[in-house]
Amino acid sequence: MDPRSLISHTQTLLRTEPFSDHYRLGVKELGRHVGLRTPRDLLLEDRCCVTSSRGKFAVVRRCVELITGKEYAAKFLRKRRKGEDCRTDIVNEIAILEMAHFSPYVVDLHEVYETSSEMVLVMEYAAGGEIFNQCVADQDEAFTEKDVIRLIDQILQGILYLHRNNVVHLDLKPQNILLTSCNPLGDIRIVDFGLSRQVDRIKEVREILGTPEYVAPEVLNYEPISTATDMWSVGVLTYVMLTGESPFLGDTKQETFLNISQVNVDYSQEVFAGISEQAVDFIKSLLLKNPRERARAEQCLKHPWLSSLTEPEPLKDDKALKKNEGDLKASDNTEEIVLLAS
Ligand code: ADP
Ligand code: MG
Repeated sequence: MDPRSLISHTQTLLRTEPFSDHYRLGVKELGRHVGLRTPRDLLLEDRCCVTSSRGKFAVVRRCVELITGKEYAAKFLRKRRKGEDCRTDIVNEIAILEMAHFSPYVVDLHEVYETSSEMVLVMEYAAGGEIFNQCVADQDEAFTEKDVIRLIDQILQGILYLHRNNVVHLDLKPQNILLTSCNPLGDIRIVDFGLSRQVDRIKEVREILGTPEYVAPEVLNYEPISTATDMWSVGVLTYVMLTGESPFLGDTKQETFLNISQVNVDYSQEVFAGISEQAVDFIKSLLLKNPRERARAEQCLKHPWLSSLTEPEPLKDDKALKKNEGDLKASDNTEEIVLLAS
């Protein structure tokens, strides 16, 4: 990726004293599936065709701030990867989290530490974990359609905020959508802005970004990326959350890519048993090959499927209250924003 497409300045103070002076670190690595899964989990994943991956250059751990006793999640990012200096990528991730501070559905950045070899992003702790877990769960633990409607609505509000601020996430998948609590089911927090870009800054798309199952056809074809690229991922997410199946996953990477470029999706009654027609219609408005034809975040929020829930829910926590303030700060630029790819 052209470094000029990254935001190079942050407002957050980069603290240089040892992280351990202020935090006690939990032992368990968050979001690490491999090695922690039981044979039953593996079977379920196999059956449901959803894979999970662990980021390669980051380790995320729960930690407790010594002075307040509050829990946070600390993301440790190596500054050198494969012999290359990646500090600018991390600074970009920090800058986007700062920009999204007023969205209640984007994880909150608390503070940042920097050593000679790594940067530590201390974030709000999303105790409910990844929505991935419910996507591959047994029927009794899986999301109901009503749950999915509420969660997709929140995801869309988060994405609308990003898009209005000219940011594309580019890695929306069940491992990057977390919950504030699991039981009772809490609210959404979007995480992992490691691939995110400011739309007006991207000059070239030289590599295939994202996780194969969730990337849009234009990414595979090296065509312009736009806010619509995220909307494709919303279609895939909705499909997975409702059915527990990943719509494009094939036995090989090649097969997955072919399924995506041919938009080979199974909308059969078998897969969508007990799920409303409006839900299928919603997904169909997003899984369209031509990015210009895909529904935008704002349009999705007005889709009858989402309004089939009664009144909008009252905002629950402090961060949610910031939302209204944030809405005012967001520029009202809801047109699809297209990146320049050469
Ligand atoms: P990577 O670039 O390695 O994918 P992520 O930011 O997605 O990094 O973090 C990896 C995993 O760590 C996530 O999928 C999630 O399971 C967990 N995680 C990340 N941030 C938090 C958080 N704020 N609260 C709880 N868990 C988190
Ligand atoms: Mg991730």
